Amino acid sequence: MTISLGGVVFAWSLVHLPLANMDLQFLLLAIMTILVTARIAVQIPGVDGRITVSDTLIFLVLLLYGGEAAILLAALEGACSSLRISKKATTILFNASVMALSTFVTAWAIRLAFGKFQGAQVSLSASFGAAVCLMGLAQYAVNSGLIAIDRALKTEESISQTWRKHYLWTSLTYFAGASAASVIARLIAAFGFFPVILTTPIIVIVYFTYQTYMKSVEASVAQADQANRHVEDQQQYISELELIRKELHESREHFRTAALHDALTGLANRVMLTDRLNIAIQRKKRHADYLFAVLFLDLDRFKVINDSMGHVAGDNLLVVTAHRLREGVRPGDTVARLGGDEFGILLDGLESFSDALRIAERLQKDLLQVVCLDGTEVFTSASIGIALSATGYDHADAILRDADTAMYRAKGNGKARHELFDPNMHTQAVAQLKLENDLRRALERDEFCLHYQPILSLADEKLSRFEALLRWQHPERGLVSPAEFIPVAEETGLILELGEWVLRQACRQMRHWQLQGLVNQSASVSVNLSCKQFVQAGLLEQVKEVLDETGLLAQCLELEITESVVMENADTACSTLRELRALGVRLSIDDFGTGYSSLSYLHRFPITTLKIDRSFIGHPSQNDFNCGIVGTIITLADNLGVEVVAEGVETAAQVAQLKALGCEFGQGYWFGRPAHPAAIELLLQKGVYQTNGNAVWPPLETCERNCAVVGSRVGLIPLIG
Ligand code: C2E
Ligand code: CA
Ligand code: CA
Repeated sequence: MTISLGGVVFAWSLVHLPLANMDLQFLLLAIMTILVTARIAVQIPGVDGRITVSDTLIFLVLLLYGGEAAILLAALEGACSSLRISKKATTILFNASVMALSTFVTAWAIRLAFGKFQGAQVSLSASFGAAVCLMGLAQYAVNSGLIAIDRALKTEESISQTWRKHYLWTSLTYFAGASAASVIARLIAAFGFFPVILTTPIIVIVYFTYQTYMKSVEASVAQADQANRHVEDQQQYISELELIRKELHESREHFRTAALHDALTGLANRVMLTDRLNIAIQRKKRHADYLFAVLFLDLDRFKVINDSMGHVAGDNLLVVTAHRLREGVRPGDTVARLGGDEFGILLDGLESFSDALRIAERLQKDLLQVVCLDGTEVFTSASIGIALSATGYDHADAILRDADTAMYRAKGNGKARHELFDPNMHTQAVAQLKLENDLRRALERDEFCLHYQPILSLADEKLSRFEALLRWQHPERGLVSPAEFIPVAEETGLILELGEWVLRQACRQMRHWQLQGLVNQSASVSVNLSCKQFVQAGLLEQVKEVLDETGLLAQCLELEITESVVMENADTACSTLRELRALGVRLSIDDFGTGYSSLSYLHRFPITTLKIDRSFIGHPSQNDFNCGIVGTIITLADNLGVEVVAEGVETAAQVAQLKALGCEFGQGYWFGRPAHPAAIELLLQKGVYQTNGNAVWPPLETCERNCAVVGSRVGLIPLIG
């Protein structure tokens, strides 16, 4: 549409061109317009538009030669200019048409407003200024309008939006062009055509000098921009590096903290304590008067609290303990959690060693304070071992180990106390460790055996049963007392295996004697059960299996459980005891009177026997038989309807006293020491231990004859093997 209108206008102009007016000057202007000035444009600062000198010349031609000449020139200039940017015919024709149309409208606008307007009139017209404005306005309106429509059609934008965005400000270039043309027209009117036009080369030179200058300014600005950008990039790079460095530092600190601290309590860990200890040891080597001490602390009831109240409560208790310890020492001291409920404390730079004892006492007091866990008030205490720098250590491990040894001693001596390490403890600890190791191998090496001690009816001194007592024949140390190795076996857990072996061995032995007719068919054997054995899962099955396997009747087996073990776990003990009793097995409470029995429990326990602890029977040399307690226990047993056995009977006087109090059974050296089964067999064969109804316990003389074998009454050592 634009192109066809442009074509019509072009043809019209061609037809109406006043050829008579067309002179050499016009030709010169036309050539300048098309070939030179179209390439020269002046940027208007701050505006997206340029004044091309060709626009100015077209206005000039309009003013000097009229509309038709200007239209033709504008069309040609439009075509030539667009030819430089595009070879597309439609683009070229479109641009040429836009130029032709806008110049056509401009020419007619002026013609309509001011009549014929050219040549000499230029300088004379009074409304020349208004004409120039109208010229710029008309040219601008049509030109920008057509281009905006074309552009808007190609994009999604509305025409007004496109026009406002891209062409509003270009109006300035048209007014500037029109004004420039009017000035040149006036100059030509005043000075003539050629003087004015000859200044053109000067303008061109000035223009290109200006252009070159602007380019170098632009280049400098670009360079400065680039330098700025480079500086900015560098700054950003530096700040990124700084950020990375900070993050690295933080993560290194984090790992350092994690590597040296206990996650739960935030205290130092073993690594950090060891580190600090080594520093203290080195300092001690350089300064003889520098003193330090290590406390090794273990909570006494942590396991019970943790097991009964759960791990969360256990953790809370540890956190509270950590806090109290931290508060209880000086800032320079190191408090570390070594694992579980064990803590290590380095008391640095002490004035005297008595300070270490004082601090240990204070910490113990602090820890005795009640702790509230999940609304429950809990009491705990701590056992503390103390090692002093005076011993002269080379390694942190050594001083920690010694403090640990002292702590064990504190536990062994009744807990909730502190002990100072002395080198003897170390020797004992090493011996203990060796015992543990030996004990592990003893079962494989068959170093255990059972000895049997008779229990007799006091009324007729007939054999009631035997108590099986474990013996360890150590390859180097000889016979080791169970009082020494049973606690170690309990601690290491070995007691379970060992206990099962005892049970099986004792049942087998008794069944063997029954089958051989050495004892009557109802004679029984008593087997001691340790705490761990008693609470182990599968005890019932184990007992059943052993009885099945050995063929011993359940009523011929008595299990002895110490009073404290039964009472400590009274509820579970009750059900375990019931299950065992349901099997037909006899149940005896050992060492009765030493624990704190609750009568209500005792009443509910399905027991068959109470064994009076030998401490109440008294030491033979001291004659301190405790008549009151023994009498009470016998009455109690009577009321409960259970049998009563007095342990540790060593003298005839004790036998007489027990009989007088109505005690049924007795066990002790007076009747016979624990002896090897071979020795027992010999005695049984000789009829020393009468088990049938007619026979009575041999008179004293008979027994003395046998004591070489059994070691009874006169206290000889039992024979082994
Ligand atoms: P217990 O169960 O109280 O065993 C009785 C202890 O008293 C035995 O010590 C026995 O030799 C000793 N004894 C017996 N008559 C007299 C006496 O007239 N005077 C004195 N002073 N002592 C007498 P033994 O054999 O050294 O055993 C010590 C403890 O070791 C036992 O005390 C028992 O608790 C434990 N024990 C022994 N064998 C076993 C076992 O197979 N398993 C378990 N779990 N513990 C055992
Ligand atoms: Ca016993
Ligand atoms: Ca006992």
